[in-house]
Amino acid sequence: GWRSRAAFKLIELDDRFHLIRPGMKVVDLGAAPGGWTQVLVKRGAARVVGVDLLPVEPVPGATIIEGDFTAPGMAEQLTTLLGGGADLVVSDMAPNTTGHAATDHQRIIGLAEEALDFAFDILAEGGGFVAKVFQGGAEKTMLNTLKQAFAQVRHAKPPASRKDSAELYVVATGFRPQKLALAT
Ligand code: SAM
Repeated sequence: GWRSRAAFKLIELDDRFHLIRPGMKVVDLGAAPGGWTQVLVKRGAARVVGVDLLPVEPVPGATIIEGDFTAPGMAEQLTTLLGGGADLVVSDMAPNTTGHAATDHQRIIGLAEEALDFAFDILAEGGGFVAKVFQGGAEKTMLNTLKQAFAQVRHAKPPASRKDSAELYVVATGFRPQKLALAT
């Protein structure tokens, strides 16, 4: 069985957007307790690396790193484990909440933006990015950044996500590595 109810959210996102393909290299940010990691392996990803601050029981077919994804050297470590750039980066991360709605919204968007910056460092051309965000305004800026870097950007609230929560997911596909402007 799945280790988390969250597993159904990734299943629903994948059924709708066909994100996971056999042979893919995938990074799962905020993997504990491992539900999304299980789904990624089950749906045929070839190499899956999960990262979490918390320990995760081993998931057969995946590698788990216990630590903060923003720690120095994490991008290099992941690229080495994957044997190249990632085809898909998924993030179900959530920060600790304060109970103050505006602060919490800002924090989750901040975390999602950090995840996106990280994805820019490790994604292969054509890759995909999925991240949890919360409805509330600040996600608009992030959508603009996404639209510049990916061919297609959508957002979705999977049925398994509680209706009374503002949680939703951004789904971006077709990563276009940004060309550096030539200094003249
Ligand atoms: N998708 C998971 C599943 O299906 O089992 C559930 C993920 S849970 C909602 C969010 C996780 O994000 C928590 O376990 C938390 O420790 C992790 N997290 C939050 N900030 C993090 C960070 N900076 N680095 C790594 N993990 C982080």
